[in-house]
Amino acid sequence: MYRDHIDIGYDMDILIKPTSRVPMIGREYGHFTGPGNPLFSLGGGLVRSILYYILTRFHILHGYYVVETPIIARTTLYKLTGHLDFYRENMFLLDIEGDQYAIKPMNCPYHVLIFMNLVERYRGKIKLPFKVFELGKVHRYEISGALKGLMRVRGFTQDDAHLFTRERDIRDLFLSVFGELREIYEKLFHISISAETVKLRISLSDRSKIGEEFMGSVEEWSVAEENIMKVAEEIHRVYKVDFYAKEGEAAFYGPKLDVIAQLPDPETGGVKEWQIGTMQFDFNLPRRFQLTKLLEETHGFSDLYMIHRALLGSIERFLGVYLEAYQGRLPYILSPIQAVVVGIKTGRTEEDERIMGFAERVAEYLRGREVRAVASSIDKPHLSGYIRKLRTQLHPPIIIYIGRREVESGRISVNLYDFSIRNYRRITVEKIEDLDSVIDEAEKDVKSLIGNPPKYPVQLEYLIF
Ligand code: ZN
Repeated sequence: MYRDHIDIGYDMDILIKPTSRVPMIGREYGHFTGPGNPLFSLGGGLVRSILYYILTRFHILHGYYVVETPIIARTTLYKLTGHLDFYRENMFLLDIEGDQYAIKPMNCPYHVLIFMNLVERYRGKIKLPFKVFELGKVHRYEISGALKGLMRVRGFTQDDAHLFTRERDIRDLFLSVFGELREIYEKLFHISISAETVKLRISLSDRSKIGEEFMGSVEEWSVAEENIMKVAEEIHRVYKVDFYAKEGEAAFYGPKLDVIAQLPDPETGGVKEWQIGTMQFDFNLPRRFQLTKLLEETHGFSDLYMIHRALLGSIERFLGVYLEAYQGRLPYILSPIQAVVVGIKTGRTEEDERIMGFAERVAEYLRGREVRAVASSIDKPHLSGYIRKLRTQLHPPIIIYIGRREVESGRISVNLYDFSIRNYRRITVEKIEDLDSVIDEAEKDVKSLIGNPPKYPVQLEYLIF
């Protein structure tokens, strides 16, 4: 039975429904947060912090520097970038002490300032390509009618990076970004990135509107568009992924390459296309900030390019898409509850005590390994309904059933969710300590991505029914 990401997220205590009511006060939560500002609960806080850890470490391992920039800026910054002229209707503006400020709609201007300061101070020691990463919170105004759950919001966090490079390194850089995207999707989210599941969409300018809708000169656009087409051909050559170009759909500051993935659509039983990662050229910001001139002084060359890129895009939207496409089945490393140990009660008091004692010991052992594990119990006649509810509402990647047989033999049958078959697989271990091998198995993909997996032993026992 299909359910939307809001209901799914609510069951796992990932988010608070904006239409539910604040007790005592009697108004809806959305009345206080305002539209498009999702309020995450404890499961959501947990998922997001683990995701931030993994993404941060992943980017550091791939040669990015990490920054965190202010949420607001004086509009002088966005005057300089051109956003105030080209993007004003999407910006939240504030007046403070007679000065105008904007809530950050994009992280890029700050990243350029940081880069310029480094280049000026440390000159040739700052090597290109230079890559700077931020899990940057941005706010963009969208009409309230267009907002939808986590899919379309006004405040969101981008896995945002900016790359500063010379022309000769552009193609390698785009290729490596595509490789990074593939690693994250396949190893963290178990989404295959292949010719069968992914396409590249190239967005080009409309030549007749350059100078109006699209900033810059015809010549600048030609160079950037030629480069982006070559990059698409190169990705096609290496990864076999197809591409198509659309005229007139570029950003106002440059052409872009978006990765479009086909994900399951449980509502229809078919597939649905989603934009996942994006890589965008920008010849506007370097010119506005006179970066080219600066690099000529400090590094002795002027062929500087700036690229914006995101692998997931907006974390909020991505979570919404993922929850809906896979109906709440999160990767092991992100699951709010990773293991449930179910004691199956027979109604015979003494035996049930031993069963529950053993179930508790197993859960305790897992918690000692910093797994988010809870023990629960169910009367044997109600077992199948309970299993169904566990699998469709809480989605623990590990489910262990403890009955009389397990207590007597000490042997434990583990149901571990296997993403390659999209079902549970049974692994039997001889003793509690052997559960370590199951944990290793569950963590192996993320381990290949970033080394030791993050341990966040938050226990959300209250979720268990
Ligand atoms: Zn940017």
